[in-house]
Amino acid sequence: MSEISGFLGELGPIECTTDERSLRVKSRDWFSVSPMLRTMLEGKRADAIVTPHDKTELLHVIATAAKHRLPLTLRGGGTANYGQSVPLRGGVLLDMTAMAGVLWTRPGEIRAQAGTIVADMEAAARDIGWEMRMVPTTKLTATIGGFVAGGTGGIGSAAWGVLRDRGNITAVEVISMEEVPRIIELRGRDARLVHHAYGTNGIISEIEMPLVPMWDWIETIVAFPDYMQTVKFGVKLGNEHGIVKKLLSIQEWPTPRLIQPLGDIVPDGHSMISSIVSNLSMRDFEELVEEHGGKLVSACREGQGAYAVPMNEFAFGHALRQVQKSDPRRTSVEGFFQSDDLVGLVDRVHRKVDGMGPMRMELRRWGGALVGSGSPYVVFEDDAQMARLVELMQSEGVSVANPHTSSVRSVGKKELTDRDVGFKREMDPYGLLNPGRFEADSTEDETFSSTLPTDSWMFRQAS
Ligand SMILES: Cc1cc2nc3c(=O)[nH]c(=O)nc-3n(C[C@H](O)[C@H](O)[C@H](O)COP(=O)(O)OP(=O)(O)OC[C@H]3O[C@@H](n4cnc5c(N)ncnc54)[C@H](O)[C@@H]3O)c2cc1C
Repeated sequence: MSEISGFLGELGPIECTTDERSLRVKSRDWFSVSPMLRTMLEGKRADAIVTPHDKTELLHVIATAAKHRLPLTLRGGGTANYGQSVPLRGGVLLDMTAMAGVLWTRPGEIRAQAGTIVADMEAAARDIGWEMRMVPTTKLTATIGGFVAGGTGGIGSAAWGVLRDRGNITAVEVISMEEVPRIIELRGRDARLVHHAYGTNGIISEIEMPLVPMWDWIETIVAFPDYMQTVKFGVKLGNEHGIVKKLLSIQEWPTPRLIQPLGDIVPDGHSMISSIVSNLSMRDFEELVEEHGGKLVSACREGQGAYAVPMNEFAFGHALRQVQKSDPRRTSVEGFFQSDDLVGLVDRVHRKVDGMGPMRMELRRWGGALVGSGSPYVVFEDDAQMARLVELMQSEGVSVANPHTSSVRSVGKKELTDRDVGFKREMDPYGLLNPGRFEADSTEDETFSSTLPTDSWMFRQAS
């Protein structure tokens, strides 16, 4: 009897399937946004999908998989864009979506099961007059477990920074991958151990997040005839602490035409910045627009835009998805722009990559500073072209993370210290969690045939 049949035989009444179609569909996430990942992850799939409905069932699944030494890969909403929820070595796909529900809310805090949809947490927080500090643009389908284990930040990061910034994850309950699983609670800096680890160092079962007082939000689009004028406005707005905002996302012309739901809201030849601003800040915001020579082409209450999709969809990974609907050949890398002269840095890179494609630039806080992240949307040719793009950006001092790979180290957005390696060994002594994505011994990490000369977004935080 194979290990997987032995495992299935000991599951009892817990929901599971080995249906071919389900295995194919659920062993994928949104990695298809990357032409390089499409090739690398082709055909990778789990042998069984198991869906526990409560913690007793979850513990039984973990213990049984550990006993049979089966690989176990976690899946929430499956919206990850580095392919990090695709099982590289088969085994069990642990579907967390039935482990859902807000456990409690109180002023400033919320706790939920890991499979809870982020938008449901946002709604629960709003019921008591508070809101999440940040949500991914995929909040309607992403789970909080997947966001913390696989995401970075999102709407709200323009004010509050990213998940790895101190205070943005309050606590996590994590379970070890052992025959007798241990349940531990990590708070403060320890909670960051599981952030961006892709479920390789523990199964997250509950998460506690900080909340902020709720605002009435206005979605705005401002157009400028020149890209660098848009960047100057964005950086100024980002640094105006008196103007309350949660999103600053810049798209160079002709991207406003490649994003179909925008129609012709943005005039021909104009770049745009989409921002979400408190209704109480609108007067100051409009003054700033005027001072910078911008044109406010759209302003409406959150979710009520004339563009038929939430404004989320014009920012971060969603903007690339929209662009790909018009031109499926387009892709990008993730440059990290940090400088005391942020406008100057963006200007130098913009000149250097001139002609490769329109730039996108998300402005947000990271470790307290206003930083940019983005790159041109290039028409993908081959790996060599992508490597050249990375080198051009690096030559001006930009760090570039790699969205076209799938392991913790090679993506390069997580700071890995000896504590991380020790914690991985402790929580996953048999190396069964999402194997190939982050092994305690770096030489064992799965290296894909195609690698870009990227570096890491390493920004140290005092421990
Ligand atoms: C169009 C698009 C837009 C995006 N926008 C953003 C954005 O604005 N901000 C952002 O940060 N990210 C963004 N992402 C990526 C982001 O990772 C996901 O949107 C989301 O946060 C992941 O949640 P999920 O439930 O879908 O996780 P999944 O895709 O299911 O999983 C993500 C990772 O976490 C692991 N995991 C899942 N659940 C658990 C658990 N309970 N315990 C341990 N590990 C677990 C998985 O194995 C996987 O490695 C975007 C992706 C796309 C395709």
